[in-house]
Amino acid sequence: MTSHIMPTYGRLDVTFTKGEGAWLWDQDNKRYLDALSGIAVCSLGHAHPAVHKALCAQSQQLVHTSNLYHIPGQEKLATKLCELSGMDNVFFSNSGAEANEAAIKIARLFGHEKNHTNPTIIVMQQSFHGRTMATLSATGNPKVQAGFEPLLNGFVHVPFNDIAAIESVLKQHDNIVAILVEPVQGEGGVNIPAPDYLNKIRALCDQHDILMMLDEVQTGIGRTGAWFAFQHNHIIPDVCTLAKALGNGMPIGACMAKGKASKLLTAGKHGSTYGGSPLACSVALAVLNTIEEQQLCQQASDKGNAIAQAFSTRLKNNPHIVNIRNKGMMIGIELDLPCAELVSLALDAGLLINVTGDTSIRLLPPLIISYEQIDLLVDILSSLIDGYTT
Ligand SMILES: *Cc1c(COP(=O)(O)O)cnc(C)c1O
Repeated sequence: MTSHIMPTYGRLDVTFTKGEGAWLWDQDNKRYLDALSGIAVCSLGHAHPAVHKALCAQSQQLVHTSNLYHIPGQEKLATKLCELSGMDNVFFSNSGAEANEAAIKIARLFGHEKNHTNPTIIVMQQSFHGRTMATLSATGNPKVQAGFEPLLNGFVHVPFNDIAAIESVLKQHDNIVAILVEPVQGEGGVNIPAPDYLNKIRALCDQHDILMMLDEVQTGIGRTGAWFAFQHNHIIPDVCTLAKALGNGMPIGACMAKGKASKLLTAGKHGSTYGGSPLACSVALAVLNTIEEQQLCQQASDKGNAIAQAFSTRLKNNPHIVNIRNKGMMIGIELDLPCAELVSLALDAGLLINVTGDTSIRLLPPLIISYEQIDLLVDILSSLIDGYTT
């Protein structure tokens, strides 16, 4: 049968029909352990009762009214996000790319206020910020950009985790207005920078009066073991973007801002028809409350470390393991050989994983995964890795 879907994804040959927690079932009722959470989205797992309840209750009252009117749920969600993060205000979008678009627009407004005619943002190699024209221009991956030239001006790429490279760009250019960076690079392969990397970026931004903008679309909402990854560094950025886990599958993104950055997007400067709808905000609020009640940030830290430790123990005699690294529940297992094939081998074995950058297995399990399920994950995947590498 010919498909009428544009072939933008090379899909695995499986169709899921239902889920519960960390489990998914396919058409033939085969069960899979989900160690990817729909790419860091379903942190509460599938069919979570709090999400279900919020969806049902809100959709019985109002799904959408538009931002021409007050939306109490949006106010509530913004207040909660600011309480949790220390940020001042929020613009709601429907996705991560759109949240980053808002951040990029804030940086440009900030630059024009300082009379820069060509405001420029420092971004990182191997970064990922989305698929819109501005966000793919910011993205540090030629594969994402190829064929879409001309790219947007106003971005300089430097190596990730390299403070000297940022300093050098700041010396050479007098039109830098912001630094945009992921606290841990996700799509780039679970790249964890030096522990003080964000602190040093914060100091440079203060020194040069430019905006520190964090793309926490993947790292945010508990994934790394704190509500926001910047909280590990005891700093606050000027701009921070969110999406993925915020709605647990209900599309919603957010661009949070603080201080001078929070005053730039005024009436008429930005907008979104759907952004911050009553339905999306009600679900996101239920997600935040659940993560808080069940202390899932702490659990992300404990379980992420337990998973990395268990793999280290199980795979200690496998000479093909380059390293096993994690920041909370962002877990990378790097091999010394290409291992994309492991994705379909794992699927056959009833396990969902991902491979990035050819040689890194990436795991993003739901934060609600049980320790029994963790044992199963480590068992299945370690055996597959050992079988694959020998
Ligand atoms: C997934 C992701 C995005 C893009 O989010 P979309 O919702 O797909 O637009 C942006 N930045 C990071 C760090 C991401 O992981």
